[in-house]
Amino acid sequence: MSRKLFVTTALPYANGPFHIGHIMEYIQADTWVRFQRMRGEEVNFVCADDAHGAAMMIAAERAGVTPQALVAGIAAGRKPYLDGFHIAFDNWSSTDSPENHALARDIYRALRSNDLIETRSVEQFYDPEKGMFLADRFIKGECPNCGAKDQYGDNCEVCGAVYTPTELRNPYSAISGATPVLRTSEHFFFRLSDPRCVEFLEEWTQNGRLQPEVANKVREWFKRDASGKAALADWDISREAPYFGIEIPDAPGKYFYVWLDAPVGYLASLKNLLDRNGVDFDAYLADPALEQVHFIGKDIVTFHTLFWPAMLKFSGRKIPDRIFVHGFLTVNNGEKMSKSRGTGISPLKYLELGLNAEWLRYYLAAKLNARVEDLDFNPEDFIARVNSDLVGKYINIASRAAGFLSKRFGGRLSADLGVEGRALLDGLRAHGGTVAELYEEREFAKALREVMLLADRVNEYVDRHKPWELARQDGMDSALHDVCSVCIEAFRLLTLYLKPVLPALAAQVEAFLRIEPLQWADASRALGHHTIGPYQHLMQRVDPKLLDALFEAPAAAATAAALPPPGGEDIAPQISADEFFKVDLRIARIVSAEAVEGSTKLLRLTLDVGEGRHRNVFSGIAAHYKPADLAGKLTVMVANLAPRKMKFGVSEGMVLAASDADEKATPGVYVLEPFPGAVPGMRVR
Ligand SMILES: [Zn+2]
Repeated sequence: MSRKLFVTTALPYANGPFHIGHIMEYIQADTWVRFQRMRGEEVNFVCADDAHGAAMMIAAERAGVTPQALVAGIAAGRKPYLDGFHIAFDNWSSTDSPENHALARDIYRALRSNDLIETRSVEQFYDPEKGMFLADRFIKGECPNCGAKDQYGDNCEVCGAVYTPTELRNPYSAISGATPVLRTSEHFFFRLSDPRCVEFLEEWTQNGRLQPEVANKVREWFKRDASGKAALADWDISREAPYFGIEIPDAPGKYFYVWLDAPVGYLASLKNLLDRNGVDFDAYLADPALEQVHFIGKDIVTFHTLFWPAMLKFSGRKIPDRIFVHGFLTVNNGEKMSKSRGTGISPLKYLELGLNAEWLRYYLAAKLNARVEDLDFNPEDFIARVNSDLVGKYINIASRAAGFLSKRFGGRLSADLGVEGRALLDGLRAHGGTVAELYEEREFAKALREVMLLADRVNEYVDRHKPWELARQDGMDSALHDVCSVCIEAFRLLTLYLKPVLPALAAQVEAFLRIEPLQWADASRALGHHTIGPYQHLMQRVDPKLLDALFEAPAAAATAAALPPPGGEDIAPQISADEFFKVDLRIARIVSAEAVEGSTKLLRLTLDVGEGRHRNVFSGIAAHYKPADLAGKLTVMVANLAPRKMKFGVSEGMVLAASDADEKATPGVYVLEPFPGAVPGMRVR
């Protein structure tokens, strides 16, 4: 009987396109899923966009669209990445789907009936201008430790101090700039400290479902104090309106914290898929044989080993069977692929440059193991593994044999193969079990090493029998036929073993060999009397120039060597539309302009952006404009720049002006002025 598997990858936050870290996780999971399918197992492999949260609400507001539209736009851009890297999810949904709303509320109601939800008063910063409570990341101020300005509400990027938002000096709202006030509201907590939860989680995390290093780390959370109480804290699962999320049942104006409904999205995406296929969701999950498997990064272990299994267990649902945690991807031993900064390799650029997606799949698989280790992308290593292993050892086996077979034998294979040939192929078949075990255990690097050792054996066989010499000798037709047929059968077996990693290449090979899609069981069969098609080129070697282009800064790639950079400076690194929309540009009327006493550079501008109040902005244009030239004119300002305290007062924004980086080349500063018709307050986008 086949296994039944429900497999997910972590849900990406819908605030931007995929980065290479997402792609690595998807390739890891996709390879494992493809292996299972080749074994005949039944798999449902799903993912979804993680749509909710204050960050999405604010990003949408700044982009001037609804959060739903923002999520839909991001989702629409997912396909080229998934198709491009041959990642075959059965379904892609969103945590804002009707299924997720219903499931999240059901789970919550069940937890509440189980007496695991309680309410408590929580004191939190509130933005009186925006009328909303502020998450830590939306509060800024001066570090209570070192005094650095513009630090976030939870930690200081300058000195590394960790604190609570209430400890910040001169706090302000990063959304409106207003000074936040402390307000009390009622929050909902999931009582993870309940002895039932502690007992369940302690057992669940330590019974072999987790990788040993993950289980060891998790064990620390169960250390007991002198009174015998474990250190698990209750979890605040509610947020106040306005919030983009799922409203809590019987609690108007309260929403689930995004991390409550995000993992429920696994189930919602599965339900969405099963409903479409006419399969009963509850019956599917009730099958005791079903295995639920989550692939995740090491940064979200807490959510998946504490909150998520406890939510499922105490709402009476199926609990996960395995959590597969992987490390991060680094480049040249360099920095972590940051979700927020997205540095490193751009997956879309990789595809656009024409780099073969399966080179990356092979390279990552050749470095992935079952442990929580970071994986380093090294360009030289990438070239070596693809060119000498993948192409040099594997692809070449087919190219060395296929030509003789079509020219001399009409593509027909010999069924005799000779004693040595049969022994070689038996050896290759005998390793199928080991390779399968390694795939099953996610020891992909070891699996590929095993396959490359088998390819070495085949190449040694070819070098001993030298088909190119047999082809020149009279009376050696039969020997040539056998040797080339052995090579093709060996190539078929190696292709089968590589297919979870190289699905598109395997499809090409299946067409060339004129065989049905390879399944794992085909390893024990032989082609026998069979006619193959003409050999067509299967895979290029990596051109190192392509990798240079991949790592080149976009601006440098576009700039011709001999030309000076435009405006005296290189075009800045590429940003996404979302990043651009974070900058809120508005038409402003310069109500008045005046000289600043004690400064030769600054003018004090009073600006009207249609807010029913005036803004005070200092601008370094005193050397270029007389105050009288500016008063009454329209211009463009950055309206959401954090207010800056200057020697002469607070500056509440920035006026846009053009200048050459080399002021000697093109002197002057030019304040922007819109075409006639624009009015104060209009957004510039
Ligand atoms: Zn500090």
